[in-house]
Amino acid sequence: MRIGIMGGTFDPIHYGHLISAEEIADIFKMNLVMFMPAFIPPHKKKGKMTDVHHRLIMTTLATVPNPGFAVSAFEIERGGCSYTIDTVRGLKKKFKEKIRLYFIAGIDAFQEIATWKDAGSLFKNCDFIVSTRPGYRIDDLFYMLDRTVSKKYRDIKFRIEKKNPFYKSSSHPAPLPAGERIEVRGHGSKYFIYPVETTALDISSTEIRRRVRQGMTIKYLLPEPVEEYIYKNGLYRES
Ligand code: ATP
Ligand code: MG
Repeated sequence: MRIGIMGGTFDPIHYGHLISAEEIADIFKMNLVMFMPAFIPPHKKKGKMTDVHHRLIMTTLATVPNPGFAVSAFEIERGGCSYTIDTVRGLKKKFKEKIRLYFIAGIDAFQEIATWKDAGSLFKNCDFIVSTRPGYRIDDLFYMLDRTVSKKYRDIKFRIEKKNPFYKSSSHPAPLPAGERIEVRGHGSKYFIYPVETTALDISSTEIRRRVRQGMTIKYLLPEPVEEYIYKNGLYRES
């Protein structure tokens, strides 16, 4: 079983999240992509964050029409700070290692990976799929990992591998342009980091919240049921 984990605050979820998850699910033939709203995202500033039950409902509303998507309250039920390493370890234990986990992150989030809790162990426990922007090169990703992760965790080394088994030039000319992946080295298990060019939608939750606050339209940035939910519950009216 190949399971994608799409972590995030989802405050609110929008089409940028959904399109990258869908395209990744398609390319990697995922059995399921689990959207996992963080209870307390370790990397967000301690500003006002929408109550978790609203974020969970919005994520559910956005994903129910897609049978390949599911929502997981795993981090919410665990409570406390939502560290990815705890989530990955917890899921592997729960599914008794019968699954292969692919943690999906945007390049903006992944760039900070060396600062994530126990990042060294993370690379020994799951694969990563990193959605990048057109023009982003695998070398940039490699050097970033080399400069940050390998420097901090001396036993972890990275290597660019020319062959990527998920790369099909005929069916996906754009999403995996180089047909390469990065191998994580330095321990027994084999895990990889896959850069993927997903359709770039310049949408962020921050921008959606700002628009609502200023009375501007948010139509077509996120699914209609989520838009309706935001207005019905008076979310994002104040900063
Ligand atoms: P905020 O503006 O509050 O930071 P966000 O739009 O970045 O919100 P998050 O919940 O922080 O959304 O992001 C969750 C994950 O989705 C991260 O890995 C992030 O890189 C990715 N992501 C966010 N926006 C997009 C987008 N437009 N396209 C592809 N991936 C995205
Ligand atoms: Mg963000």
